[in-house]
Parts: sequence; structure tokens; C-alpha cells
Amino acid sequence: MNKKISYFLDDFELNDDNSLGIYIHVPFCEKRCNYCHFFSRALKPNQIEKFFEALLFEIEYYEKIDRNLFERTFVDSIYFGGGTPSIVKPELLKSLIKILDSKFNLKNPEITLEAHPKSFVENYRDKNDLFFNRLSLGVVSFEEKELLSLSRENFGYSALILAKELGIENVNVDLLIGIPGQNLISFKKSLNIVCQFDNVKGISIYPLEADFVEPDEIVLELMSYSEEYLDKMGYLRYEIANWAKSDFFCRHNLKYWKYMNFLSFGPSSSSKIGKRRFKRSSNLDDYLDKKFSLEEDIELSEKDLFFEKIMMGFRLMEGIKVSELKNKFDERLVEDFLIKIKKFDELVKIEKDRVFLTRKGIIFMNNFLVELMPD
Ligand code: SF4
Repeated sequence: MNKKISYFLDDFELNDDNSLGIYIHVPFCEKRCNYCHFFSRALKPNQIEKFFEALLFEIEYYEKIDRNLFERTFVDSIYFGGGTPSIVKPELLKSLIKILDSKFNLKNPEITLEAHPKSFVENYRDKNDLFFNRLSLGVVSFEEKELLSLSRENFGYSALILAKELGIENVNVDLLIGIPGQNLISFKKSLNIVCQFDNVKGISIYPLEADFVEPDEIVLELMSYSEEYLDKMGYLRYEIANWAKSDFFCRHNLKYWKYMNFLSFGPSSSSKIGKRRFKRSSNLDDYLDKKFSLEEDIELSEKDLFFEKIMMGFRLMEGIKVSELKNKFDERLVEDFLIKIKKFDELVKIEKDRVFLTRKGIIFMNNFLVELMPD
């Protein structure tokens, strides 16, 4: 570890409280999917054991340099993401929760396990295996042909049945749209299957990116169908790609969108504490050898903080509270922003204390957000 990290502990004002989210990045998959942009590598023998040793070392290192952070915060969410955390045997992840419990102030945390349906079915057979209270299943689609076009096997349905049998009451299902060969009929089938499970409390729908994307019209059509259908099924769209039953919005992801504090462990993972954003190096071999370094370490200026707050907040359907912006940021920054958005009245709306994107704004957000950057 070659860089001292200081967390600006007096600077928790960007959080509404001293809560902290913990993210653990498990950087392995059974095999890599060619459309995926997350950091992970195909698992090789003995890497998991080495990874956990390094992870523990990293957690202890943070504890040594900033015990204060551990003491002054309470942890209300823990998220195992990846990669494929479900590739790891449950006992190991269970023991990690015990370690986190001994070091942080855990306060009734939401604990999410991201899972690939195949490894979930292989590794989770027993109620004693459950150390999490939210399961996020990367189903992608239930259609054989669509999965084949992405070189994925079809375990989504079996994984949902198993989750039900195990009594997991908070399941989130990820689906993709824009898969080659996908159409409204096949997508309707996938959505319909998901909604038959009453323990599916959340659904995420993401467009497949880059060169695999079909013409945008189909993505828009499927997105608009999702909105109509999921609304009828009692799911609320609370973020541009996320729906959930009320009281089941993902606490951990809300930390990102509300621009709160989160501390991450594992290669290539990013953290934000107060004004500081830092990212662990993506070199897996170095990480496994406990040679840690940071790939990015930035003290954000007030303008950066403001812009990032806007970018993340606009992902939420409820948008951002103007009064919150006024409380936390320089008055001129807020006033300039409110003047600038007037140019985009079809894309951004202000209602009472909220500023949020319209449906059209959501579609074009990547094209115009940059124009809202503070001068
Ligand atoms: S299994 Fe998931 S994380 Fe791993 S490469 Fe495929 S899409 Fe990416």
C-alpha cells in the first residue's frame, strides 16, 4: 500500500447522516461475457483463497490508518458485487460478514449478494447458507436463443424457484434489453415470468451496450412497455433503470444516486468519502500479492461535487431537492444551474422543491448533462 489516505472526516455534510455503505468487489467470473464492461477475470485455481487473504489485509490496513472512520460511522448496507460473488462458497462470505461486524458499527444492514443464476443454483442449497437479506440475480433473459447469442446458459428460472424454496423474500432480477434477436413478444414473456414470483421485489432493466445494441427504437419500445406493465404489477420506477415494490428500493444503490458515502474493497473498486473519491488499482495480480495502490485519488472541488450530485441525482425519478442543493452548495452555483436548465424545458422540470428529468430528458440525458456543468 503506497499511499496514505485521509478521509476528510470533518466533512460528512454531504451525507444526511453518518451512514456508510460498504462495497466488496469480487473480481472473478466462471468465464467472461464478451459484452460486459465490469472489472473481472475468469477464475483460476486457488485465486479465491488468495483474494480473501488480500481483502482481509486491505480491510485491516484501512482500519489501521483511519480507525476514526470506522468509529464515527454506522454501516447500513453491505453489497457483494462483481464479477460473480455467488461463485464464492457461502461459508467464506459468511465469515467475512463476521469480520466486518467486528470492525464496523453494523446497524441492521441491507446485505446484497449479486448472483449469477448458474453459480447460485450450484452453491446455495440450504437455508444455513444465507448470510444476506437481498439477492440480486443477473438473469438477463429467459429466452434460450437470446441467452445463446450472449453465450450464457439458461438458469434464471431454476434460480428463481430455488430462491423461493429457500425463503429469500427480497429478490431483484436484472434483465437486458437490446439483445440480438429480442423483440416485444419475447421480452413480454421474460417480464411475465419475473412477475409470477411474489418474492421478486425489484427489477432492473438495462440496455445492452456497445456493438451488441440493436437499433435504439427497440430499446425505447421495450423500456416504455416495461414502464406501463410494471406499473400495473405494482412496481414503482424509482431510478431510470430500476423498479421496486414500495419499501424495497435498494438502500445501497440509493447511496450512489443520493451521493452519500461509501467505502469499497477489492481491485478496481471506487469509494467516496466526503470530498474524496478514490479508486483501487485494477491490477488483479498486484492485488492478490497485496501490492495495493490507487488508480485515482481526487479531492473534489465544490464545482465537481455539485456536478456529480446533479448527475447522480438526475438518475432518480424524484430528482433532486432544490432546498438540499441550496443548503449544501454555494448559492451562485445553484442559481446558475437553475438558469441553465430553463434552456431545456422539455428535458428538465422543476415542481415545487424538486428538479427532475422528463421521460424525454431520461432518454437524452447523456447528451445534454455536460451543458449543465458549472462554468
Ligand atoms: S458473469 Fe456478469 S460480471 Fe461476469 S463477465 Fe458475465 S456479465 Fe460480466
